[in-house]
Amino acid sequence: MYYNSYIQDEEAYRNVVRRIWTEIMEWGKENMRIYPWRNTQDGYRILIAEIMLHRTKADQVKEIYEVFIEKFSDFVSIVDAGSENIKSELYSLGLSWRANLLYRMSEEVVEKYNGVLPLNRMKLMELPGVGHYTASAILCFGYNLPEPVLDTNTVRVIGRIFGIKITDSSRRSKKFEKIMYDLIACGESRNFSFSLIDFAAMVCTSGNNPRCDICPLKSMCCFYGKEMT
Ligand code: SF4
Repeated sequence: MYYNSYIQDEEAYRNVVRRIWTEIMEWGKENMRIYPWRNTQDGYRILIAEIMLHRTKADQVKEIYEVFIEKFSDFVSIVDAGSENIKSELYSLGLSWRANLLYRMSEEVVEKYNGVLPLNRMKLMELPGVGHYTASAILCFGYNLPEPVLDTNTVRVIGRIFGIKITDSSRRSKKFEKIMYDLIACGESRNFSFSLIDFAAMVCTSGNNPRCDICPLKSMCCFYGKEMT
């Protein structure tokens, strides 16, 4: 059923949101991937992972992330090392393009917040290089707060299920944000979001051939039901 039809029927919408949440959580119990940055409640570590994951696949990031965290365990250690050292460390890890940004961000967190990231979206977004997605990721992944993590992958799954056309601006769309808020309001926003991200990577894949045959959501999916135009 299309999202627009659910607007007429609040109860049906609530039911389908709860079913999606339940199925994704169940799927995640069996299939959620384990990465070192998923097993921490330290906002610094989440932020470092997000910076590294920006242009690189998770499996490639794993090793360089662990090396970096071993050397620089917090924002203070980055400031203490100095910008030139951070540049050369990141250069050797193939991430030199982010060195200046990370250094400026660390200086600001140390100066303004005593080295601890604030648990506030607006304050996070005032830091250099922290946009909407990264702020959500820090709050949701680090602190299990009900903040919607919308990227091209999570948007793809939601768009297909509800028959909503996906565009370049969908990640910033109020419609997608509302659905994601409603999903994470069911609970466990961190595990749900990790599960949804992995589900998008492994089942509801990009391209024209998602793995609908093994998908637990197909009975409620517009894409599967060929309802999408
Ligand atoms: S049925 Fe197919 S398109 Fe729909 S959510 Fe599942 S994998 Fe994605």
